[in-house]
Amino acid sequence: MQQWSQQQRAKGRKIAFVPTMGFLHQGHISLLEEGRKNADLLVLSIFVNPTQFGAGEDFEDYPRDLVADASLAEKAGVDIIFAPGAAQMYPNGYASWVDVEGITDVLCGASRPGHFRGVTTVVSKLLNIVAPDIAYFGNKDFQQLAVIRRMALDLNMACEIVGLPIVREADGLAMSSRNSYLSVEQRQQALCLSESINSACRMVAAGVVAAAEILTNIRKDIESHSEARIDYLKICHQLSLQDQVEVDQDSVLLLAVFIGKTRLIDNGFLLK
Ligand code: AMP
Repeated sequence: MQQWSQQQRAKGRKIAFVPTMGFLHQGHISLLEEGRKNADLLVLSIFVNPTQFGAGEDFEDYPRDLVADASLAEKAGVDIIFAPGAAQMYPNGYASWVDVEGITDVLCGASRPGHFRGVTTVVSKLLNIVAPDIAYFGNKDFQQLAVIRRMALDLNMACEIVGLPIVREADGLAMSSRNSYLSVEQRQQALCLSESINSACRMVAAGVVAAAEILTNIRKDIESHSEARIDYLKICHQLSLQDQVEVDQDSVLLLAVFIGKTRLIDNGFLLK
């Protein structure tokens, strides 16, 4: 992979890169399509990264379908699928980690200790291997994107980091490989995530600015769903990810909710 990239770059070709854990859906495809438009070559990585899963999380169960992914990738104009094995990425004796401080302490970082260390480590490795000019990430993983931007800036990575909007199902559910875990009933209840973002936006549009008032309101809504258990529900500044008392242009509602055993995340800006 690294040699191919070096050869292409030597020929002056621009390389776009989309890192994923596979089981591709339209959210991933939107990143690939944007990459296809903005570079000469498009690389997709598929790697279910063990180091970003905690003990008892869904690493083993995470959905995998390389055959279906390859066919979707081909349609999206991918030139190379890079799908390494865990033992190639983390051979015996592996000992190096990338840690971003501060913004990894909150939200998903607080609920999933070590998660972002796994993410930043694997993304660093992938960027070193693929050596792209530009890499695409989804706003769906809002904190992940903020952490990766911080890392790229702090570590002088040459690659441009681009974030793209959340792709949703027709009824509003944010697309996710993990949606495949949901039963029919849970799939219906999972709408409480996107609905709570919409209802928060409506409150803000109606003049409510107190974050606590908005959160109390939507907390009640979510908790009325029998399968839902809130992990976190917060209104944060888009850059610092610190809690806000009052909503402004920089406010993002971020939530993680278990629907049954499936942990789903979603987010949205409150002032449009
Ligand atoms: P994953 O395979 O879940 O690790 O995601 C790979 C990339 O796709 C990440 O940058 C995600 O933020 C992005 N992504 C996942 N779901 C969506 C979505 N519904 N809309 C936009 N981007 C997404």
